[in-house]
Amino acid sequence: MPRFVEKEWIFLASGSSGNASIVRWGQICVLLDAGIGVRSLEKSLLGAGLHSGQIKAVVLSHTHSDHCNPLTIMAFLEKKIPVFLEGTLIPALRKKMNEEIVDFLIPLRAEGKKEILPGWMLKTFPLPHGDMPNLGIVLELDPGLFEPALRLGYLTDLGTWSNEIAQFASECDLLGLEFNHDVEMQKSSNRPSYLIQRNLGDGGHLSNEQSAACFKKILSQSLDRFPRHLVQLHLSRQCNTPSLAKSAAEAVLEVGFGQKIQVKTCKPGVFRLRIPWCRTRNRKDIGTPKKLPGVVQINRVKRPQKGANPTEQLELPFSFFPME
Ligand SMILES: [Zn+2]
Ligand SMILES: [Zn+2]
Repeated sequence: MPRFVEKEWIFLASGSSGNASIVRWGQICVLLDAGIGVRSLEKSLLGAGLHSGQIKAVVLSHTHSDHCNPLTIMAFLEKKIPVFLEGTLIPALRKKMNEEIVDFLIPLRAEGKKEILPGWMLKTFPLPHGDMPNLGIVLELDPGLFEPALRLGYLTDLGTWSNEIAQFASECDLLGLEFNHDVEMQKSSNRPSYLIQRNLGDGGHLSNEQSAACFKKILSQSLDRFPRHLVQLHLSRQCNTPSLAKSAAEAVLEVGFGQKIQVKTCKPGVFRLRIPWCRTRNRKDIGTPKKLPGVVQINRVKRPQKGANPTEQLELPFSFFPME
């Protein structure tokens, strides 16, 4: 039996202050979003037992500052590491950079596929996010003759979702999906009203309820394989809590899909969360889902008191490695 090369998805930062994760296949890494500074990235990588020299490609979902730090991107371009992003976003990013290095900005189609490294196939699909083109990402790994192909899906920063988006993200072994806010916390926040409207609108971010419904659709459209893990991304520090987000996702599993899919929630900020990446069970091993009701019932948990730090009151039922 051949010994498989280790693969994993390592989350380094999530939320409006920065998004970055590493997809690792043996010694080779791909950086998925680069919304943190060089020093923070290097420190997070060292903490995870990696170094930036292992990153052979960078893929950006879009160029909002929490996903694309121009100085970090420049550091990769200067090392001739390709940075893949939606093609229409390149001119604006190019203006901020030295002309000699911009040849390594590689355009992606809003909907298409491209081999970014040997054996690494990137598939993209457009996500609604206001005026900014944003990409849903599926990364497929083809490890060769003796190992099955692997798929991970990454959907963040979308104001609404559709059956087509759910179809695009189906059949993944790992799934990263935004669970941005709780609608009531968003409405009662002291944010400016234009920001509240933007976040609640079709060009903003998914609420817990919307994400749960999208997750349910993704599962119901997955005929062959289910994700082993759902990783909840881009939680609002002010308008969500990990408990609310987790409860929303687990309600989907309770009604239809058992407990065999593990839900992991990325606390806003910088941290490390490692998820092993291997071929999921077949759908038949998960069992037949019970009848799915049309509405996802979310068991609400107690909201934090006003003025309290929401994360302090929450127990995180999985391993986080907080960094100072
Ligand atoms: Zn964005
Ligand atoms: Zn964002």
